[in-house]
Amino acid sequence: MKSFSRKILSAVLAALLVLTTACGGSSAGSSSASSEAASANEAGIFNPGTYSATTTGMHEMTVTVTVDANSITDIQVEHQETEGIGSPVAENMPQQILELQGLGIDAVASATLTSNAILEGVTQCLRDAGASDETIAAWQAKKPEVVQEEDAEYTADVVVIGAGGAGMAAAVTAQQAGKSVIVLEKTSAMGGNTILSGGAMNAVDDGSEVALEHEDSVALHIQQTYEGGDEQGNLELVTILCEKAWEGVEWLKELGMGFTGEVFTVTGGLWPRAQRPSDPEGTGFFKTYQNYMDQNDGITMLYNTTANELMVDENGAVYGVKATGSTGNSITVTANNGVVLATGGFGRNVEMRVAANEETQLWPTLDETIPSTNASGITGDGILMAEAVGANLVQMGNIQLLPLGDPETGSLSGNIEHSVESRIFVNEQGERFVNEGGRRDEMTLALFEQTNTTMFIVMDSDTYPTGDELNNFGETINDLVAAGRAYKADTLEELAEMMGVPADTLVATVEEYNRYCTGGDLEGQTDAFGRTLFSDVEGINNGINNAPYYAAKRVPTVHHTMGGVEINANCEVLNTQGQVIPGLFAAGEVTGGIHGTNRLGGNALTDTVVFGRIAGASAANYTR
Ligand code: ADP
Repeated sequence: MKSFSRKILSAVLAALLVLTTACGGSSAGSSSASSEAASANEAGIFNPGTYSATTTGMHEMTVTVTVDANSITDIQVEHQETEGIGSPVAENMPQQILELQGLGIDAVASATLTSNAILEGVTQCLRDAGASDETIAAWQAKKPEVVQEEDAEYTADVVVIGAGGAGMAAAVTAQQAGKSVIVLEKTSAMGGNTILSGGAMNAVDDGSEVALEHEDSVALHIQQTYEGGDEQGNLELVTILCEKAWEGVEWLKELGMGFTGEVFTVTGGLWPRAQRPSDPEGTGFFKTYQNYMDQNDGITMLYNTTANELMVDENGAVYGVKATGSTGNSITVTANNGVVLATGGFGRNVEMRVAANEETQLWPTLDETIPSTNASGITGDGILMAEAVGANLVQMGNIQLLPLGDPETGSLSGNIEHSVESRIFVNEQGERFVNEGGRRDEMTLALFEQTNTTMFIVMDSDTYPTGDELNNFGETINDLVAAGRAYKADTLEELAEMMGVPADTLVATVEEYNRYCTGGDLEGQTDAFGRTLFSDVEGINNGINNAPYYAAKRVPTVHHTMGGVEINANCEVLNTQGQVIPGLFAAGEVTGGIHGTNRLGGNALTDTVVFGRIAGASAANYTR
């Protein structure tokens, strides 16, 4: 809504400018000038100078543009966009605009917020420099010239489709097995949905001090994963997921990935067993995979390359992939060994998710009114490609929503919570409405019942003592407050006013909640909603009672599709008769039937690492 209103504001400013210039007769940006006429005008299309605009990508940024009479001569972007996601775009896009002298540059799929913020900032500066609506329209219409590249053919031992979490784990594993690997990635960067996640990776080091302290075990992880999905998941695969999780963490550590060592409960994770990477979001995984590739030969990345079709020989074995390059050229990649499908789910394919939801009717609706946390390229391509070669699709109707979407974009950014124990959810009446330590589907279904399907996360400053600490998405709470994406107040009454909820109800809600926390008179008992996870961290003030207080608005958002291609324990893809499709392996969100109706929070990253590694090893071992 904010960027929309900014656009309206820009349009109003532009209209005012047109009116002013039309009345006042200033030459620059004259309302009647077409872009050619304006450029022919001696005064040019811009008033030379330097202009600045503030816009918001993942974070607030300042775009500064210097123009002469007819062109942009410099663009500077001051930003704090996330390393590995928005940051490369903030660094590259200004140069592209400068070279093009136009604004028709496509947003980068994995960083649309950053891309749009830069385009919006430059546009605003050009308007401030006196550009007419016609000039802006002409600049927006100007696109880079596409010269179709030559068709190309490549061969590698193992071919991986999709450079998200599962694909990169598979690629590195196959390389470690001595194989050459080609990875095809639709977008211009690795990461997929994995890099956009909060980074929580469930893994139990059985028998360790940490596990004992939290009364956790691999057996409990298996049980909660299986039961948390209503026993619809494949128990053999669930067991592998949980048993191999810690090995996955150790493998990542060996590759150089940092973890804080701290274990926490992620929303819907049901237990404190999520490992927290040292880097924000999922960036640590990809920093690690990139470092590995910088130091080791054997993995070739083909970015901006969209796989369309699996190549099958006369015996029904998959031996390669047909793809399209960014310039429309065709790219054929043949595998000496196996092909790994790791294209993620279909959260951004509205047609597919609506059809799938019709099967199960888990959700009131999954049409375009419901946003998604997913990257825009997550459209079920791999599921459709596999289906075309006979793969069995399982449990497609099991789709996970989170109650944690940004009200404007549906993304997880701006989510202020750090762990389940330290926050509550309240509705627009200032009341709690669900067990905030429960299952993701139950929490989100309860949210659908609330006024405007809207809630607030409410917490105190235990998590953010100074306000400069980062949330799980690399944002500081102070920045979120400054951008109007979170509220901060010294009292709950003031917070309630900012949230637009009744103050007396919010105060009563928090007081009631605090009675269950450590030191409260109901400590150890379950509350009306069945919540059992309360803050019990020693040495800090418990409950929500440590000013300043924080709140942030959240809505339901499509997060993970648990249905997909059926695999066995070796990550071999099965056909509709339950037989292995030779040469085809799959891992990650493209697969189905592991998690059942509801995936435990923190199990997706584990899935990418555990099954990505198995798929990579199986593909490396396979020969036709
Ligand atoms: P997972 O968690 O299963 O690894 P991700 O969402 O992290 O899934 O990654 C999936 C990746 O696959 C994304 O980077 C996405 O852009 C890529 N992808 C999706 N469809 C295609 C396709 N047709 N060709 C190449 N890459 C694709």
